[in-house]
Amino acid sequence: MADHVELIRDLVIANRILAREGVVDAFGHVSIRHPDNPDRYLMSCSRAPELVTADDIMEFTLDGEPVDARDRKPYGERPIHGGIYEIRPEVNSVVHNHAHEILPFGITNTPMRPVAHVCGPIGTDIPVWDIRDNFGETDHLVLTMEQGRDLAKTLGDNRVALMRGHGGVVSGGDLRQSVMTAVYLQVNARLLLQSLQLGVPNYLTPIEVEKCTARQFHPLSLDRAWEYWRARAGGDSL
Ligand code: MN
Repeated sequence: MADHVELIRDLVIANRILAREGVVDAFGHVSIRHPDNPDRYLMSCSRAPELVTADDIMEFTLDGEPVDARDRKPYGERPIHGGIYEIRPEVNSVVHNHAHEILPFGITNTPMRPVAHVCGPIGTDIPVWDIRDNFGETDHLVLTMEQGRDLAKTLGDNRVALMRGHGGVVSGGDLRQSVMTAVYLQVNARLLLQSLQLGVPNYLTPIEVEKCTARQFHPLSLDRAWEYWRARAGGDSL
């Protein structure tokens, strides 16, 4: 992967950003589709994202087989990524996380819906996947491709899905989009929880979501946010 030094550096920076912004802790991961081979993706070996370096980045086939594992041990929940890449050709980056703020919206019948303009990218419809529906009582980890595909099916064409009692997945057209969406999913969870305590939220309409997403994903916003998050995460010295 010597040709992809910049790309791998960005993936490392994405790991650091997600850790710095509290989206991931010891757990959670971010991947990108391989730029030269859509049937493969790149993701760290099994480490806390804050600690990930370029040497940790591994290549996988969509069904989660490491291409050159060496002595590195992969994350168990690889099928989350492969399942989404299989059925969403336009998705080039996936984030999986357990941010505590988002969990209540997968645990209760109160749906996650966008309430602030910067949160538009999370989308109007955010389905909740419950592993128990098709796989019974488990430890909640997505460890088989059958489970990953089932999650991807629930995600459908949406950018975000929550996982009951577990966390969520975010899909993006590129790495910066998925990172931004994951950061603002968490912001939206906080704002929505506060709003629900005060009264009935006035959610973004689907048209507002569309316009706010276009604004947030415009390079003026996306590059500015990335530069800021990268600096906060110490990524400028990587
Ligand atoms: Mn997980």
